[in-house]
Amino acid sequence: MNIIKNATRIVFKVGTSTLTHDTGKFNLNRIDKLARVLSDFKNAGKEIILVSSGAMSAGSAKLRVDHRPSTIVEKQAISAVGQNELMRIYDHSFSMYGQTVGQILLTKDVLDNETSKQNAQNTFNMLIKMQCIPIVNENDTISFEEIKFGDNDTLSAYVALLCGADALVLLSDIDGLYDSDPHKNPAAKLIHTVTKIDETILSYAGDAGSERGTGGLVTKLKAAEIVCANGIPMFLINGQNPEILYDMFEGMNVGTYFMSR
Ligand code: GLU
Repeated sequence: MNIIKNATRIVFKVGTSTLTHDTGKFNLNRIDKLARVLSDFKNAGKEIILVSSGAMSAGSAKLRVDHRPSTIVEKQAISAVGQNELMRIYDHSFSMYGQTVGQILLTKDVLDNETSKQNAQNTFNMLIKMQCIPIVNENDTISFEEIKFGDNDTLSAYVALLCGADALVLLSDIDGLYDSDPHKNPAAKLIHTVTKIDETILSYAGDAGSERGTGGLVTKLKAAEIVCANGIPMFLINGQNPEILYDMFEGMNVGTYFMSR
């Protein structure tokens, strides 16, 4: 059975390293391709939700902040500028393909409270009913340690649960999960299917993250644990060329497929 082809509601998560160049500025070509492919899926009848990082990077680039912000208030201010920039680009790109986007910013406490969780869920459902593509990020402008998800891999897993998604797709700067670090070991093998996230699988994660993103493989496996335990399969694929998503839909062996329980 082709899991992803049969899925109706799909959450896609894209990370900062996929959305930006090494300069920290947007990779417009890639964002445009992503918007095109997701719009195409939407035209084919899929319900698309996009969880996107990139606000911090965009804000830093626009404000010409050339260091990693160290204080919370600095991060909050930078993300306020960057989130705006991020949505402007998405609105532009998706509009080109006839789509309407809506922004949803979340913090963890929203999901810890039944009333606010229900409200968020209603908004997602209404946006989808209105044929929009919800674009989600952590509400970095007001989040602090106690109420934050901390990384968008985890956020996307909770969004998938909240929305009752049929699948979660993480677009990253790696091809999938390898049995050792492919940057250090040229013989590292890509794992196509993970049936169970056990100690061996967890040991493959190491602690590598990219320079501009927040998560590494550790947070991706954590996301897989969350969704798979709740009956939602996850796919980890390389977002360098978003058209790879077409191959995934055709059931080709791209990236790593985490089977749900
Ligand atoms: N919310 C952060 C941003 O938009 C990203 C967090 C992450 O990449 O995990 O920059």
